[in-house]
Amino acid sequence: MAQRVAVSDGGSKKTSRVRVAVRLRPYMGKEDEKGEGPCVKGLDSQNLEIINWRNATETVKYHFDAFHGEQTTQQEVFLSSVKPILPHILNGQNASVFAYGPTGAGKTHTMLGSSEQAGVIPRAVREVFNLVRAKDEEEGWDYSIGMSYLEIYNEKVLDLLSPNSHDLPIREDKDKNILIPGLTHTTISSFSDFDKHFVPASLNRTTASTKLNQRSSRSHAILLIKVVRTRRALPNRQQIGKLYLVDLAGSEDNRRTGNQGIRLKESGAINLSLFTLSKVVDSLNSGTAIRVPYRDSKLTRLLQDSLGGSAHSVMITNIAPEYKYYFDTFTALNFAAKSKLIVNKPFTRETVAVLPVKRSREGHEAGGSGTEPQKKRQKEDKKAEQDGSSPSTHLHSLSEPSVLDRLIALEKQMMSCKDKDRIGMLKDVAQYRKEIQELKEKQREFENKTKLLSRLAGEKSGTSQEPNFKNNIAPLERKQSTAMKAKKQQAVVQPLQVTQQVVVVKKQSVCVKKKESKLPDQVEPPDGKENMIQDGWESQIDTSVLEHSRQNILQILNSGSLKELKGLQQIGVKKAKLILGWREIHGDFTKVEDLTKVEGMTEKRFSTFMKANILSNMGK
Ligand code: ADP
Ligand code: MG
Repeated sequence: MAQRVAVSDGGSKKTSRVRVAVRLRPYMGKEDEKGEGPCVKGLDSQNLEIINWRNATETVKYHFDAFHGEQTTQQEVFLSSVKPILPHILNGQNASVFAYGPTGAGKTHTMLGSSEQAGVIPRAVREVFNLVRAKDEEEGWDYSIGMSYLEIYNEKVLDLLSPNSHDLPIREDKDKNILIPGLTHTTISSFSDFDKHFVPASLNRTTASTKLNQRSSRSHAILLIKVVRTRRALPNRQQIGKLYLVDLAGSEDNRRTGNQGIRLKESGAINLSLFTLSKVVDSLNSGTAIRVPYRDSKLTRLLQDSLGGSAHSVMITNIAPEYKYYFDTFTALNFAAKSKLIVNKPFTRETVAVLPVKRSREGHEAGGSGTEPQKKRQKEDKKAEQDGSSPSTHLHSLSEPSVLDRLIALEKQMMSCKDKDRIGMLKDVAQYRKEIQELKEKQREFENKTKLLSRLAGEKSGTSQEPNFKNNIAPLERKQSTAMKAKKQQAVVQPLQVTQQVVVVKKQSVCVKKKESKLPDQVEPPDGKENMIQDGWESQIDTSVLEHSRQNILQILNSGSLKELKGLQQIGVKKAKLILGWREIHGDFTKVEDLTKVEGMTEKRFSTFMKANILSNMGK
């Protein structure tokens, strides 16, 4: 009787964990229309980093079980991520290898490869034959190897070895083995025998895909290699080990990328399977979920006995380095990294400087000097736009409705919505930021041309630098002093390689300057109380006590829960939510003054807030 070894291995989380490897394919200049260069970089054999879309001056660093850089060969990927799990299928255990990632990132290259660079599938099948041959000689078991090849498309299971088949059912037997009645299963006696069946079936799939609007990128191709071993001596015990080799559908969001001609149903079905896979991987790796949601999609249902339990699973997340894949790469890495977070190998955010051109975008995000609430800023931007005085005039006129307005509206909305909606919105926010960046680049180009033209026309004037100067300053920074503007401009034109330290220092010096330059011109509040609050009490407190309180407040701002934030003086539910929302979008507050960047937190309110909290801290 077929016997599956230990469906549950006594709750050992080690064996049920899905190992995650990331493979970065080489940079392809032709894919990068704007020549922006790679946005992902490998660090070592387990770590990589990508520019943080929430703040382009930062990178996000990820840690995985393995990282395969651009130069990694097919053989290396196979040896490190796949070969080690294969012996298990000869002992009646199951295994699965699946390639995940956006279309064009190298899934098929990894799994199938080419005749010159064979991928995981041919190498794994060869290895299974080698292993069986070696075992055959030394043990009293007979082995037989068989294959099935299927595709899940639109939540339908289709037999690729029998192209005219219809949707096949997935069943579970009493031993919890997953079966597909009616699926062709062919015994194979050698690698060339395998090739004989596999190659035409793969070709079938490719031909169908060109006819059907690149269907292959929207379907999951699943090769099953089954090893049955039977004891020669009586009673003829039998064990079955299954190996699933899966080339998953592209993980890009087809609706977001506006793929032509995709019916909603198709797009939804892909997302359902991948979404469920992510939930399954997540709950397996956390080891805490009571119910792993295998049944929620065909893909996970099919892989149920080969993911989790005593199965050995490897996910190879394929990513591409070009900017046009930025979002999908980010999403794919987060999908993969989520499980790493749960096993306490979280990615860490690092404050590392990268692209100077993006620093002007940071200006948007940080809200310039951050002394005004967003609403007010919006109003002023509009006003300035009308009278043409705004440096963002071109920017706004290029987008209808203004990208910036949409961005601000979205960010506001995001602060009051649930986590699951928030992810979608975060994507949109980042998309808008990218648009803003593109518009700014266009604007710069346009202004450079204008400058050139005026020079050619002999219009030499002292203000000829003006448009360029303005251009580099984000519209939200208009309220800053001239000294401050000059500082910002310097930051924008810094060379590409700015080290972490330099940036931090820069940031601080900008911040100090800001304070210095602001205080003298600070607009007096109508009742003049503001300065009293500012000057009176702070000077009477010991500086170390003051600093300690500021650090306490900063810590709560950065890591406090909603309840803890509400526990601060002057912070109600609404403000606490706004703070959480800000944190979600921009990351940590670097200093307590950053609080003025949160909507509605004017300088006056901030002063009152600081006074109330510091005094209350001291009273404790
Ligand atoms: P996907 O299956 O994820 O859509 P492909 O495997 O078709 O992506 O890869 C897209 C293109 O990139 C193909 O031309 C492929 O040959 C090439 N490619 C992918 N990964 C690599 C790699 N590691 N080395 C060289 N070329 C690669
Ligand atoms: Mg492919």
